[in-house]
Amino acid sequence: MTTSNPPQIVPNSGMGLYVHVPFCKTKCPYCDFNTYQGIENLIEPFLPAITSEITCWGDALAHPPVKSVFFGGGTPSYLPQGDIERILVAIQSSFQVDPAAEISIEANPGDLDEAACAGILNQGVNRLSIGVQSLDNDLLNLLGRRHQASEAVEAFQSARQAGFDNVNLDLMYGLPNQSMEQWQKTLSSLIELTPEHISLYALTIEEGTPMHRWAAEGKIPEPDSDLAADMYQHAREVLAEAGYHHYEISNWSLPGRACEHNLVYWENGPYLGVGPGAHSRLGDYRFWTVLSPRDYNTKAATWADSGVQPLADLVETALQGIPTLGGWEHLSLETTCSETMFLGLRLLDGLNLSEASAIAGTDLAKKFQTPIQECLNLGLLEQDGDCLKLTKQTYLVANQAFTRFLE
Ligand code: SF4
Repeated sequence: MTTSNPPQIVPNSGMGLYVHVPFCKTKCPYCDFNTYQGIENLIEPFLPAITSEITCWGDALAHPPVKSVFFGGGTPSYLPQGDIERILVAIQSSFQVDPAAEISIEANPGDLDEAACAGILNQGVNRLSIGVQSLDNDLLNLLGRRHQASEAVEAFQSARQAGFDNVNLDLMYGLPNQSMEQWQKTLSSLIELTPEHISLYALTIEEGTPMHRWAAEGKIPEPDSDLAADMYQHAREVLAEAGYHHYEISNWSLPGRACEHNLVYWENGPYLGVGPGAHSRLGDYRFWTVLSPRDYNTKAATWADSGVQPLADLVETALQGIPTLGGWEHLSLETTCSETMFLGLRLLDGLNLSEASAIAGTDLAKKFQTPIQECLNLGLLEQDGDCLKLTKQTYLVANQAFTRFLE
């Protein structure tokens, strides 16, 4: 690997690297991610495809620094044993990965016995994110999850026994038929496990999903937004009591355990996504890989054959020549400013206007003087010197503030 004359598409501070694994054993009825069940025949060719794409991007970007790696999906833990290590070897050979980089993987509880956890840890992963979703078996059944509540707890214990000291647990709330009592019980059982990080997501029923059809046909109740708000408020209280810092609208961590990779997104930093449908934000562009895993496998595996030259700059003509790309969007200064504001405001300690202005390349306090003042007058935001932040009552209706920063 040579590292001479890197173009400044990626700053010296590095970028995040996201690896999308599009396979799930079963497709959950609420999920609209680019993931598929029943395409196991594409798993074997996925490995040479993704390692080829990683190698080619490394060459194209002249092996830039990487500060975090995140395997998401889909179900990365559904890949055959050893594949994560092979992908990480390709990443290490193609990029300058910070030795202290956070390397996360999403996993389903059913895939995680102690041997599997040890295998993942030994492959170089240092942060595990487990999709618990609920600790109530009826709700897990409704969500179409393939694990039981006891398996989720056992998966966490296996992770600890294997040596993981940085674990996130995901939960969902605002579920059809979910009572406040069920939520309180799930949350307190989760807190007893003392994971380093907890993410809580309200169910949104997306169009085109089986759950959307069930709701339309009256087979399940529509989500109760008032009850969901009460569940969120309860979570805020008990997690604060348990010592968790609420650092992003949907995320809590023990001190020093915020998710480094997701901070790249919220700080509107640079990131590269590899794998089918993965999104990237580099230079002045947002671009994404072809959605179809079959097309992706073919295109990524042959990218190297077309010859990879380091990109002198990230411009449209350069993007057009990348075989795996499904599309791209040029980010105007207006878009960059808006996104820097509303992504940064998701961080509840607040947005530092000077630092955010440096990222956006313009004085954001001046540019957004009117919407900032409106939000302050309406009690949506509060300001302390250079720091602008959501007021507590705005956390669940943050879009009321964010939309004011859209041109
Ligand atoms: S396991 Fe996750 S990614 Fe896969 S279908 Fe279910 S929700 Fe979607």
